[in-house]
Amino acid sequence: MSEVKTSIETDLVSLKHPDERGYYGEFGGAYIPEMLFANVEQLRLIYQEVIDDPAFQAEYKSLLRDFVGRPSPLYLAKRLSEIYCTNIWLKREDLNHTGAHKINNTVGQILIAKRLGKKRIIAETGAGQHGVATATVCALMGLECFVYMGAVDIERQAPNVARMNMLGATVIPAESGSKTLKDATNEAIRDWINNAETTHYIIGSAIGPHPYPDMVTQLQAIVSEEIAYQLTAQTGKEYPDYVVACVGGGSNAAGAFYHFLDDKRVKLILAEAAGKGIDSGHSAATSILGSKGIIHGCMTLLMQDPDGQIIEPYSLSAGLDYPGIGPLHAHLITTGRAKVYAATDDEAMQAVFELSKVEGIIPALETAHALAILSRIGAGKDDHVVVSLSGRGDKDLNTYMNYENIKDQVH
Ligand SMILES: *Cc1c(COP(=O)(O)O)cnc(C)c1O
Repeated sequence: MSEVKTSIETDLVSLKHPDERGYYGEFGGAYIPEMLFANVEQLRLIYQEVIDDPAFQAEYKSLLRDFVGRPSPLYLAKRLSEIYCTNIWLKREDLNHTGAHKINNTVGQILIAKRLGKKRIIAETGAGQHGVATATVCALMGLECFVYMGAVDIERQAPNVARMNMLGATVIPAESGSKTLKDATNEAIRDWINNAETTHYIIGSAIGPHPYPDMVTQLQAIVSEEIAYQLTAQTGKEYPDYVVACVGGGSNAAGAFYHFLDDKRVKLILAEAAGKGIDSGHSAATSILGSKGIIHGCMTLLMQDPDGQIIEPYSLSAGLDYPGIGPLHAHLITTGRAKVYAATDDEAMQAVFELSKVEGIIPALETAHALAILSRIGAGKDDHVVVSLSGRGDKDLNTYMNYENIKDQVH
């Protein structure tokens, strides 16, 4: 992958990769049951070699071009720019095959799984977006696919369950606990332990034990690689003043930030889901409400009670309804390299309707959190602000149509 070099880069310890134990500062690592050591170690030893291999890069890039539809456009949103008195560029991940950035990661990981000689793929999914992206690449490669999904989520997300079935995947309901994402994750990990030899586990965000956060970040880095040259081609300027992205686990943000991480001229902005409000007891604003602890195999910021029990997060947007945040982002936030703002359900909904009416683009509800904070980031009229338009709103249409009726419920 080509790197954007800047004159000040040499002064810094690069933020682009964790240390060899998988730490970004104090966050990251691999906290896994002993039964998974062999699998995670195998992945750790070869993922970088695979990613750097020219044959892998050629196959990955050609699938990104012809199957996913990359490069995605960098689009100057003129009317939105007028409203916010700055220059707003939308990085159109919503135009990707399957409708979001998640496919960049699953295309890369399926190629890595093939290199590892794995015949069977497992994944966990909440809203079903990562499940669909995984089922898609398994169909593409003819690999067996099992997607764990909470029984409650299966009911809530029927269209995505239908898509996964059509794509040939088996959706397995997680019936334990609250029957949602964290229970699906537990069952996926149990499956992995039992089928370690044959199975690759495709994690859908920049989370999990090392090497997942780094691997997923590198597989999403194509987004900022494109932003850098597209912005230069259209403005003559080689870097944006701001890059703004919503953050659930952190993969779209990691991809949009990657090539600018070490360039301090670029302000990195994260948008979290405040749900009903940060102090409402129904929120997913992890960086504000969270503290250091272990979730899904890594040390990071998560929402937990004083006994270390995970606090159920809440956001109307299923993709941001997650109690943790990837270790790269925990590091960026605690060191001040990235700034984080929280947007409520209501603010995100307003941003959905604004972008739809003003630009003719209906965004995903997750993405709308990044749009909802644009008036707060302090961008001036000469600044160039790139927003990661992580996904399209088709999947959220029911929520958009029924919002007035459902907004007083919390789940
Ligand atoms: C899943 C999802 C997200 C949140 O996941 P990240 O890993 O934080 O990017 C954001 N936007 C869309 C459209 C999604 O589907």
